[in-house]
Amino acid sequence: MTAPRFDNQYATLPERFYTRMPPTPVPAPALFQLNDSLAVQLGLDADWLRSDAGIAMLAGNETPPGSAPLAQVYAGHQFGGWSPQLGDGRALLLGEVTAPDGSHWDIQLKGSGPTPYSRAGDGRAWLGPVMREYLVSEAMHALGVPTTRALAAVTTGQDVLREARFPGAILTRVASSHIRVGTFQYFAAQQDQEALSALLGFAIRRHYPDLTEDDALGFLTEVVHAQAALVAHWMGLGFIHGVMNTDNCHVGGLTIDYGPCAFMDAYDPRKVFSSIDQFGRYAYGAQPEILVWNLAQLASALLPLIDSDTDRAVEKAQAVLHQFGPDYTQAWQKVFFAKIGLTSGGEGEIALVQDLLTRMAENQADFTLTFRGLHDGTARDQFVDPTAFDAWSDVWQAKNPDAGLMARTNPSLIPRNHQIEAAIQEALRGDNTRFERLNAALARPFDAAPEDADLRAPPAEQEQVRQTFCGT
Ligand code: AMP
Ligand code: MG
Repeated sequence: MTAPRFDNQYATLPERFYTRMPPTPVPAPALFQLNDSLAVQLGLDADWLRSDAGIAMLAGNETPPGSAPLAQVYAGHQFGGWSPQLGDGRALLLGEVTAPDGSHWDIQLKGSGPTPYSRAGDGRAWLGPVMREYLVSEAMHALGVPTTRALAAVTTGQDVLREARFPGAILTRVASSHIRVGTFQYFAAQQDQEALSALLGFAIRRHYPDLTEDDALGFLTEVVHAQAALVAHWMGLGFIHGVMNTDNCHVGGLTIDYGPCAFMDAYDPRKVFSSIDQFGRYAYGAQPEILVWNLAQLASALLPLIDSDTDRAVEKAQAVLHQFGPDYTQAWQKVFFAKIGLTSGGEGEIALVQDLLTRMAENQADFTLTFRGLHDGTARDQFVDPTAFDAWSDVWQAKNPDAGLMARTNPSLIPRNHQIEAAIQEALRGDNTRFERLNAALARPFDAAPEDADLRAPPAEQEQVRQTFCGT
């Protein structure tokens, strides 16, 4: 068995980027889940991770050689309000590992104890949100959506106090970096141009290595493009992030910070799950507009690096931001055309997609099963009034949709809220069967195994989850 070899490039950035500190030890760590296939991809020895030494690392009780644990500082707009200092309040970057293919991966513990950025929080996480992030982030990966990954979950043997006492847990999060729009905003707000340049260079090396390291405009262009594609992908899956604050917006175009996120069951563009999103700021249909707002914050943070002449910098940044509209529209169309089996289209096909969505909303049609049902004839069963589907289908069939394309684009299985909730409740009673089953099934979201029919079904009335929580 071999222990992982760590290093920490982020720790080579100036001291004001982070606070160095070890994780806070926990009394009785136990492995809840290990992601073997991710371990292999990263070149880590899964047997070692399962050993006492491995579990001690995953729980934060031992810091591995070469690591340099630190809490990253960032800022952000939360629900539109500016917070000049946030940061890893319940997480620590242990360091990074280099995969066999030469790529660098941050290994972060989430739930590892308080840091100087914890504010009123305890720095801990409980098993429910850890399970949720594990299941949903791994499902997103299997669905082909760029995302942070989950390498492991451990329980700590220590309760965490929320609405009640819950078992504490720690998620090991893996990502190509943890740099957020809010990381740039933090240094921009302090007018720390030297730090901004260093951060830009780091982010470019990690995410857009084809750019030169001081190409702020090129970087903005790439982030706009990556995030437009990401959110279009979310939209095509009925995914609602729930907390699209700028500190949860990743400059590499990854989905990050799974809190009160959820996949919709019945289609409703105004759908909101998050208990703290009272005004629907982050509703399903609002996500593209919020994204462009977040990207404008990034643009504004980058201005001094774009051009020393502010007017010229603004002009250049605006030109890039104006590209978001067409970029996003194109990405959205590509996603939704594929969902109805078309490789391309024009005004008529756009109207066709929109007409279907309108009819779905009017008929409380299940988002996932309607699209999945297009190529096997079951879509109409999702409509309160199936003739509303038939009228649409007549026009659609005339376009000769490609069944193979639809089967590759429309998953039959998504992590449904009520299943996640049931898995959490069972785990709290000491039974991990549903978690294991869900996790295994979600790794193959496009090939419907007959025995997983119950996991694909929408919730019955009494099973519906109406609200989701940050879990902090
Ligand atoms: P979020 O919106 O959940 O990504 O978190 C926003 C901020 O709150 C981040 O700076 C987190 O590190 C911090 N935070 C969330 N939960 C906790 C907690 N239990 N203890 C300390 N800080 C937390
Ligand atoms: Mg966050």
